[in-house]
Amino acid sequence: MEEVSSLYNSKITCPVCESTIEYTKVKSKLIKLLRQDTDFCPWYEGENPIFYEAVICPECGYASHVTTFEKVSRYERSKIRELITPKWKKRSFTGPRDIEKSLEAFKIVLMNLMAMEAEKSEIAKICLRIAWLYRYKGDKEQENRFLEFALKNYKIAFHGEELTDGKFDEYVCMFIIGELSKRLGHLNESSQWLSRLVTCYSDPNQKRHISSRLIETTRDLIQEIKDMKANQHNEEVSTA
Ligand SMILES: [Zn+2]
Repeated sequence: MEEVSSLYNSKITCPVCESTIEYTKVKSKLIKLLRQDTDFCPWYEGENPIFYEAVICPECGYASHVTTFEKVSRYERSKIRELITPKWKKRSFTGPRDIEKSLEAFKIVLMNLMAMEAEKSEIAKICLRIAWLYRYKGDKEQENRFLEFALKNYKIAFHGEELTDGKFDEYVCMFIIGELSKRLGHLNESSQWLSRLVTCYSDPNQKRHISSRLIETTRDLIQEIKDMKANQHNEEVSTA
């Protein structure tokens, strides 16, 4: 019996070289989310749609996150033509992807973002996804390396960008900075960011922009950090 594929191809026009290209997606009705880590890393049963979020033009090498593929400014287009296309070896990224193929695709997106001097929040978003791919793989060292890149870029974005784009606003940015800091062991910094978010929530003007679920997780994380610090203190006392 032939197995029904959970994947299909979609067509799109490359905004850089104007070729009509195909990219692969997971059928949405077959996506089954099992759980999510506190930094939003999703775990799926079956095909993982994260693997397919990096879209690449096989003709010119332009690549981006699937949600922003068609949003390219004239300046960005010229940067890709100057820095990416001349070095590009034509190859296709359609069809099933494993973690390795997906890592390769996301790293091409990252190179594109660097070439077009993209916003730091977009660079951070891609670095976070690369970190998740290493988490799926069980490679802690590379995961932490990309979490640090993501953290650094989210901090620059927080101070320098207008963060009002849909689901990702300044409050989610504060949360993710606090969460990644905790994950990387920067506990004092983490509690500062998370407490700052709780303070925003106590202001009636800001409260309506912050989801109560986000605050619930924030409070859990603050408590976890307190426990971690207390344990560290106890260990120091017992070994003194
Ligand atoms: Zn192209």
